[in-house]
Amino acid sequence: MTQRIAVLGATGSIGDSTLAILAAQSHQYEVYALSGHHRLDKLFALCQQFLPKRVSVPTAAVDDFAKRLSSAGLDIDVVGGEQGLIEIATDSQTDTVVAAIVGAAGLPSTLAAARAGKRILLANKEALVMAGKVMIDAVKTHHATLLPLDSEHNAIFQCLPSAIQQDNTQIHQSEHGVRKLWLTASGGPFLQQSFAQMQQASVAEAVKHPNWSMGQKISVDSATMMNKGLELIEACHLFDLPEDKINVVIHPQSIIHSMVEYSDGSFLAQLGSPDMKTPIAHALAYPNRIDSGSQPLDLYALSGLEFIEPDLQKFACLRLARQAMQAGTQATIVLNAANEVAVAAFLNGQVRLTDIANINEQALTDIQLPPLSAAADIEDILAIDQIARHLTDKLVMKLVQ
Ligand code: NDP
Ligand code: MG
Repeated sequence: MTQRIAVLGATGSIGDSTLAILAAQSHQYEVYALSGHHRLDKLFALCQQFLPKRVSVPTAAVDDFAKRLSSAGLDIDVVGGEQGLIEIATDSQTDTVVAAIVGAAGLPSTLAAARAGKRILLANKEALVMAGKVMIDAVKTHHATLLPLDSEHNAIFQCLPSAIQQDNTQIHQSEHGVRKLWLTASGGPFLQQSFAQMQQASVAEAVKHPNWSMGQKISVDSATMMNKGLELIEACHLFDLPEDKINVVIHPQSIIHSMVEYSDGSFLAQLGSPDMKTPIAHALAYPNRIDSGSQPLDLYALSGLEFIEPDLQKFACLRLARQAMQAGTQATIVLNAANEVAVAAFLNGQVRLTDIANINEQALTDIQLPPLSAAADIEDILAIDQIARHLTDKLVMKLVQ
C-alpha cells in the first residue's frame, strides 16, 4: 500500500532531500500535501512536479496561489497559515508527516500531527526543545510514531535495541544496558579558527558548513554549536534521559553520526556519508530499508577519524543548553526563542556571530520565570516564547545602538 506523505517545509533543505527520495520511490509513496512559506515559486514548481492533493501557504497568499494553480490546470486544495498546516498534518488521508519547518513555527502542526496519531518524521528539533514533554505525552497518548530525522538522533535510534525503538524510543526505564549517548558534532566552519577570527565572521563564512548542506538558520546554529545544544535537549526528550547521560564529542569528518555506549563497554555507532537522505530514507521505510540515493561511504578513501572534546568557552551556546536543560522547560523555551531572534539579527547584519551566545546568555539570566506546571500546554509554552522574543528584541536593539 502506498504511504501518503505530507511534507511540511517542502521548499527547504530537508524538503529537497525528502522529495528527491519520494520522486525516486514513487511506487511506494504518494506526495499527498506540501507546504511553503516565502519560496512560493519553488512550491508552485513542486506542485507541478508532484501533483499533491493539498498545499499550504501563508494566509495572505492563499487566493493568488489558488488562482495560479487553477490557471495552470492544477486541481489542488489550497489552505493557509498555521491552521492550514494543522489541517494538512491532521488530514485523515495523511499517513506520514515530515515535520521540516524551521523554528518555533513548526511546533503547532507537529504537535497536531502527534495528537492525530500520525507517523511523524521529525526534523523540526525546535518543537522538542520547546515542548518536549507535551510532544512526547501526545505521541504516547495518541499512539503516534515519532521517528527522528536529525542525523544524530536517527543514528542513536538505529543503534538502540528494537524493544526501545518500539517503545517510543524511551530509554530511561529500560534494562537494556544503555550507559550513555554520544552526540557527534562537526565543530562547524570555525573549529580551527580562534575566537577573535570567529568574531569577524561574515554571514557567508558562517553559513558555509564544511560537511553538510543545510538551511541558513541551522547553518548558523552549527557555527555557534547552538545546534548541538538544541540537539542535546532534543535527545533528552526523545530518549527520556537526563543531560548528564548525553556527551558531545567533536568529530570533524561527520562520518560517525552518533553512538550509544552500553554497560559492557560496547559503543555502537552508525556511519554514513554526511547526507540527510540516509536518515530520511531510514525513517520513511522503517522498519524496512530503501535506496536513499546517497553516495555510499568510501572507507578506503577515509584518512582518519578524529574525536575532540568541545571548548565550552569558545562554543558557549553548548554550555548554555546544558544549563537551560537543568533549569527546566521554561529555560529551554527562552533559549530557543532568544537564539532564533539572535540568529535572525546576525543574518540581517545587526550583530556579530559571537554576540549570539552573549544574547542567549543574557536572555536566560534576565528572563527568570517560574517552572512550568506539569499540566502546562502549548498555549503556556507559546506565551513564554513570545515574552522571550520580545525581550530578546530589546537586547538586540541595545547592541545595535
Ligand atoms: P530551511 O530554511 O532550508 O527550510 C525551512 C522550511 O520551513 C522551508 O520550507 C520554509 O519555507 C519553511 N518555513 C520557514 N518559516 C516558516 C513559517 N513561519 N511558517 C511556515 N513555514 C515556514 O531549513 P532546513 O530544511 O535546513 O531545516 C528544517 C528543520 O530541520 C529545522 O528545524 C532544522 O533544525 C532541522 N534539521 C535540518 C537539517 C538539514 O540538514 N538541513 C538536519 C537536521 C535537522 P520557505 O522556504 O518557502 O520560506
Ligand atoms: Mg543534526
